[in-house]
Amino acid sequence: MKLDDLTTEGSSLDCDRCGKCCIDTSMQLSLDDILRLEKLGYARKDFVRVKDGFYTLKNLDGVCFFFDAKPRNCRVYADRPDGCKYYPIIYSLDERRPVTDNEECHRASTVTELELKASAPKLARLVKRILQYSPKKE
Ligand code: SF4
Repeated sequence: MKLDDLTTEGSSLDCDRCGKCCIDTSMQLSLDDILRLEKLGYARKDFVRVKDGFYTLKNLDGVCFFFDAKPRNCRVYADRPDGCKYYPIIYSLDERRPVTDNEECHRASTVTELELKASAPKLARLVKRILQYSPKKE
């Protein structure tokens, strides 16, 4: 799926790269995410864990396996999981719509209503793919 038209770089999100969203992450992964990261040479067992019935990013010393603490960078930024690209827009399964993670991201309020609305079909498809490839379904 092409996400170029809606990623944090393409949105009005004023990200200051605090890295907070990479601390103790439980970002869920689709099979596409896992295969893309494996193609870069990373072993699945190193960056994937099962949490709450989903495949999610694994943490190392309290931060995402891919997060470099010193320069505060994502080592796989161009190929990061789709959920990371959308963040701080997340999909609320309860409300069945995209919402912003205002609790964790102090810049979430810079996402516009239009961007939130535009993300709905794409995020719904991503959630579907994540649900399709969950440990319970294998
Ligand atoms: S993959 Fe990159 S952007 Fe996503 S949580 Fe890990 S370090 Fe952060």
